[in-house]
Amino acid sequence: MTTILIKNGYLITMDAEDHCLYSDLLIENDSIKQIESNIQFQADKTIDAEGKLVLPGFVQAHIHLCQSLFRGQADDQNLLQWLLTITTLESHHTPETLYASARLGLAEMIKSGATGVIDMGTLHHQDSVFRAIEESGMRAQAGKAMMDLTENLPPALQETTEDSVRESVDLLHRWHGKANGRIRYGFAPRWQLWNTEGLLKEIKQEADQHAAGIHGHAGEIQDEVPQMLRDRGFRNLKYLEHIGVVGPNVQMAHCIWLDEAEMAVLEQTGTHVLHCPCCNLKLGSGIAKVPEMLARGINVALGSDGTPSNNNYDMFIEMRFASLIHKYRLGADAMPASSVLRMATSNGAKALSLGEDGLGSLEAGKKADLIILDDGGLRAAPLPDFVRDDPIRRIVSAYQSTSVETSIIDGQLVMEEGRLLTMDEEQVLADARQAWETITKKATLSR
Ligand SMILES: [Zn+2]
Repeated sequence: MTTILIKNGYLITMDAEDHCLYSDLLIENDSIKQIESNIQFQADKTIDAEGKLVLPGFVQAHIHLCQSLFRGQADDQNLLQWLLTITTLESHHTPETLYASARLGLAEMIKSGATGVIDMGTLHHQDSVFRAIEESGMRAQAGKAMMDLTENLPPALQETTEDSVRESVDLLHRWHGKANGRIRYGFAPRWQLWNTEGLLKEIKQEADQHAAGIHGHAGEIQDEVPQMLRDRGFRNLKYLEHIGVVGPNVQMAHCIWLDEAEMAVLEQTGTHVLHCPCCNLKLGSGIAKVPEMLARGINVALGSDGTPSNNNYDMFIEMRFASLIHKYRLGADAMPASSVLRMATSNGAKALSLGEDGLGSLEAGKKADLIILDDGGLRAAPLPDFVRDDPIRRIVSAYQSTSVETSIIDGQLVMEEGRLLTMDEEQVLADARQAWETITKKATLSR
């Protein structure tokens, strides 16, 4: 049995009643054992959190670890140009470069407060991503990208339906439930226009059978709508409902270009929405109707998308954008900080855990995935008292990722006082530079 005692912190619990309180918190193995003031217990590790905030870790609900090396490589391109640039770079990955890419992304995310991710890989070498996740200590749903309808792309970006499903199911058997259940498999059909109906139906059966996820993109750009109507006879979410690929184990990124009937599908089926405000602005895709979704009870989580569509994996920046971009249309009281922090924490946890109730708040019995923030320093000052000055507003609108001091995932310390414990940061950076060299050489030779 291993135990960690966090003393004297101010806890933002994100429980159903939004309790915030000064308290101690005791972790036993992978779970929160006790939340009480003045716990007297000789733990294996004691952390003094006086003057600091303790809250559930962020869930980066839509990312592509395979793209971390491509930061800045497709700036000022719309989605269709962007896809061609990035998928071509993806096609040059080796197992080693993909491992370096995943480690770079994971390091950046742990340092900015993420304790969970929902990742979509590239076509091949997905074991490298899982290995990096396992070693990093991150909680994750991940899976290889599935693209069985891409005859216009280079051969390296094509696969048959049979191969795509077989390779995905093999990966599921190797990785689903590994690392004390910290790793979950998520089938990752890239987007409906690049996947056959047969593939989508088959993976829904597999996902249901194994309690795995399905993670895709839907309604990201306006041009998708007429193409879906022409090729499939329905708009995105109505199509997914028609073929049965909806429900609490389905997560769809973006969901910008939806009509009323598609919103109703999300509401009625418990399908999760993964909102990526920076990416959607950067690529000029549009702004999802998130306040309306939340008002209908749709679960909306928050993510950065891949680094080249952002260009970072920083949840503080994502929260800031999510809090601001809806106010222009709906008024200054739209998207209060508490809603935004909920999207970044408990809503993400709900998407990541496929609706199971073991993640996303500081409560006895829940998994110990949490972060400790400093008092925000100059950026959050003056903040003399957490009770009177509402740190939630400051976390969303003033804090930066440099305030993340400590991270605990599944009861394991992965970062302490700003230092990664599961990865050598200098090595991660050196390996990323080397991997990018390898990819640029391969890209140049293939021209
Ligand atoms: Zn994406």
